[in-house]
Amino acid sequence: MATFRGEHQLIINSDQAMYASKKKGRNCHSYFDKKMFEETQYKCKLTSDLRQAVSKDQFTLHYQPIIDLKNKTITKAEALIRWNHPERGLVSPLEFIPLAEEAGIINGIGDWVFKSAIDHTAKIQERSEQNFQMTINTSPVQYTKNGMDVPSWFDYLSTRGLSGENIIVEITEGVLMEARESVVKRLFQLRDLKVGVAIDDFGTGYSSLSYLKKFDIDYLKIDQSFVKNLKLGSDDVVLIQAIIVMAHQLGIKVVAEGIETKAQMDILIANGCDYGQGYYFSKPLDGAKFLDFYESWDKGLLHT
Ligand code: C2E
Ligand code: MG
Ligand code: MG
Repeated sequence: MATFRGEHQLIINSDQAMYASKKKGRNCHSYFDKKMFEETQYKCKLTSDLRQAVSKDQFTLHYQPIIDLKNKTITKAEALIRWNHPERGLVSPLEFIPLAEEAGIINGIGDWVFKSAIDHTAKIQERSEQNFQMTINTSPVQYTKNGMDVPSWFDYLSTRGLSGENIIVEITEGVLMEARESVVKRLFQLRDLKVGVAIDDFGTGYSSLSYLKKFDIDYLKIDQSFVKNLKLGSDDVVLIQAIIVMAHQLGIKVVAEGIETKAQMDILIANGCDYGQGYYFSKPLDGAKFLDFYESWDKGLLHT
């Protein structure tokens, strides 16, 4: 038995070294060393903690306003998950979402995100005269065969007095490129319920654009890497112009992510960008702070 365990561990360790080589671009070798061992242990522990995070109430959502750049109103916000780990403090979603996907627990987390975001949308909607839309990040795994249950999401919306028009789902380009039956089915179910669909991190993934029309996409979110170095006369301005013109020709609205300065906002406005999101307006805020921000903005106290 001891031998079996030893052999089993050896296989796991060499597997780990193989992944390290793949990450380095293949065609090379890697040794399983102490650092790799500690990384594996860390990932295992984090994954096991993650399995209990929903039931232990360790997740929370923060909300980042999305500004309509034409009339400077807030009509949307993005819900962003935070994991408050009892020992490690705040763990970034960039770190734990991939673990949750690998461990097969992202659907449960996705349902929690949806319900929590809807509960908060109902509170915002009470304070809003127009239709408020919450944008929710979704994982590609939620579009596979045993992924999200769209009808039950819709029932939940109804119990809060909301409709599909209060929701936008964000997906990455990769989801549409695969376009398996389960993906197509869910996207059309969402469409029938009038849920908006946005492509997140646009410009960083695949270059085929035919899917934009095929799936009747509503929004493109230009990745922050294009916005970061936006200066008059730079190549990024040309790219952004091209994306906005193409999107508008297809009837798609454009959201720019990661706006940190007035200069970036001005260039985006000059090029007809529809919506903006970023630290220049506000960092993601907890639920109560978001409501305060929303009300102050509505009264014109915070306009940039
Ligand atoms: P994302 O959806 O592209 O979200 C934008 C990220 O940029 C957020 O990071 C946000 O805090 C950050 N950000 C916003 N404005 C600025 C800015 O002006 N400058 C800079 N430097 N950053 C800005 P965050 O919250 O750490 O989320 C990281 C990623 O994790 C998200 O990227 C999304 O892909 C994923 N994620 C977050 N929440 C969820 C969730 O509920 N479900 C899933 N599946 N993924 C999520
Ligand atoms: Mg997003
Ligand atoms: Mg993004």
